Amino acid sequence: MSHVVERLPLPVSSLGSDQVLTVHRFGETGARPKVYIQAAIHAGEIPALLVAHHVLALLEDADAKGAIKGEVIVVPAANPIGLAQRMQRRHLGRYDLDSGVNFNRGFPDVTDTVEAAVAGELGDDPVRNVAAIRRAAIDAVAATPAAQPSPMLKKTLLGLAIDADIVLDLHCASNALLHLFINAASWPDAADLHADLGSEATLLEEETGSGVAFDHAVANFWRQLAAHHPDRPVPLACLSATVELRGFADVDDETAAGDAANLIRFLQRRSVVSGDPGPLPEPQCDPTPLAGVGFVMAPATGVVSFKTGLGAHVREGDVVAEIVDPMAEAASAARHAVTSPTDGLVYELADNHYVVEGQCICQVAGAEPLADQRENLLLD
Ligand SMILES: [Zn+2]
Repeated sequence: MSHVVERLPLPVSSLGSDQVLTVHRFGETGARPKVYIQAAIHAGEIPALLVAHHVLALLEDADAKGAIKGEVIVVPAANPIGLAQRMQRRHLGRYDLDSGVNFNRGFPDVTDTVEAAVAGELGDDPVRNVAAIRRAAIDAVAATPAAQPSPMLKKTLLGLAIDADIVLDLHCASNALLHLFINAASWPDAADLHADLGSEATLLEEETGSGVAFDHAVANFWRQLAAHHPDRPVPLACLSATVELRGFADVDDETAAGDAANLIRFLQRRSVVSGDPGPLPEPQCDPTPLAGVGFVMAPATGVVSFKTGLGAHVREGDVVAEIVDPMAEAASAARHAVTSPTDGLVYELADNHYVVEGQCICQVAGAEPLADQRENLLLD
């Protein structure tokens, strides 16, 4: 049995209270592949919390049988700060109420520090290069200044994950199909993850223009180093994915247990956990570029009535919703039609029906990058 539970104290911004991060470790420290899984860095994304609970149960079973071959770290509730944020009987977990910063942005980018540390060290052996880069990345995170609770939380999470082979960041969206965000450089390596999880929309991202999210912080420095040293073998040594476990309301044990079983099957396929994963399931879709996502913005404030549903394939110009202004002087003038900017799959819809002008109400995964795309490819 290798299972160890650690409780790491976090700094707090009020007197008389404590916060801890709970970290589960399985397998031998330093064993490979190393897998890091965290849930709900946006604290209110409850499907992720329940899936992490089921993953832990399956890992405990596997551990009891001696089946953990690599090293697995699970942080089943990655954001104790956000879990404590309530206002007027509502939980608010996406932004730090103290700073206003999105909990999944502003992670330290170690690229420059690692670059400076390894520039003279990289040689012709990819294995040695990977080891040197990982050592430098661990040091870079450790040297990142952080004192306030949120930056300290981000530094702690990144320190646990920065040298992993596989990082899975579990989230959920508003009202959505199961979908993935994956670094474009990890495709087609990630095709097994895409199929094992039954992803219904897999979005391949390059530069997002949206600040450093966790999935980017753990993987993008590999891509940058490889680009800066084309004469040296630098593989993309971390497969990192943001896993969007449908919508906020999709919380039930049966679904979560199925997702957890799919995750463990993927870990078996990657020889992290022993056991036969069986044949790879048929993928549910082809991946599409993040730059091909059509964001449908509300043109007015009012009540949204959707004319499409999750999983629908729409064409550019199709009406996907109407915004109804109940204060219009004539009912005949109360409706504004909203159309899709691209051909593609409707994979996310707003989960509230009173929407404000400029709010994204629908996301459509298109196969081609859009010419007039927004600068920020992720919604804040
Ligand atoms: Zn999230």
